Amino acid sequence: MLSDLFEHNRRWADEKRRDDPDYFRKLAGLQRPEYLWIGCSDSRVPANVITGLEPGEVFVHRNVANLVHRADVNLLSVLEFAVETLEVKHVIVCGHYGCGGVRAAMDGNRHGVIDHWLQPIRDIADGCGEFLPGEDDRERRLDRICEINVQAQVAGLARTPIIQSAWKRGRAIAIHGWIYGLDDGLLRNLECSASGPGDAVKAGRCSCHCIDKGQ
Ligand SMILES: [Zn+2]
Repeated sequence: MLSDLFEHNRRWADEKRRDDPDYFRKLAGLQRPEYLWIGCSDSRVPANVITGLEPGEVFVHRNVANLVHRADVNLLSVLEFAVETLEVKHVIVCGHYGCGGVRAAMDGNRHGVIDHWLQPIRDIADGCGEFLPGEDDRERRLDRICEINVQAQVAGLARTPIIQSAWKRGRAIAIHGWIYGLDDGLLRNLECSASGPGDAVKAGRCSCHCIDKGQ
């Protein structure tokens, strides 16, 4: 029931005030998170909850399948504000295994407008092609696409003019690719971080090494 949400909210606010009477005054006066989180909209992957971060500690953007579309003014506005005004030090792209967006992109069915949104995932899967687990191991194949999708978004972010210009000005910003397991609640580092212009190409290198193998 919706009234439950208000009830929970009042209880939460009371608890916070009980622990620290100045909690909301301090929070309202300053927002200085160190992290920008770009994650999936999936309700089971809430950034603050799974990282144990408090309000004010992480700036969040979420969309279906944690994609970085080059012309997405929503994401680009969030990114620019996080980099230029909040001066975050880390940008985390976090995907998750069992992503419904990745599944929908690969199931061959028509779902509506979302199919356009998910097109980059099909492009990525086509690019890695033969290096992915086969259709006979469908779940592992989808999991690999979830991982490669995160790596591709890290590389895409590293190439945005916002990040390139920040690096050129000597700003220390690192972009990371992580993936979350719905079945164990754990985050894994996909080891595709980029912290300077030279890393942008490396981050785009798919971990199946299809690029190295001449694809
Ligand atoms: Zn998802």
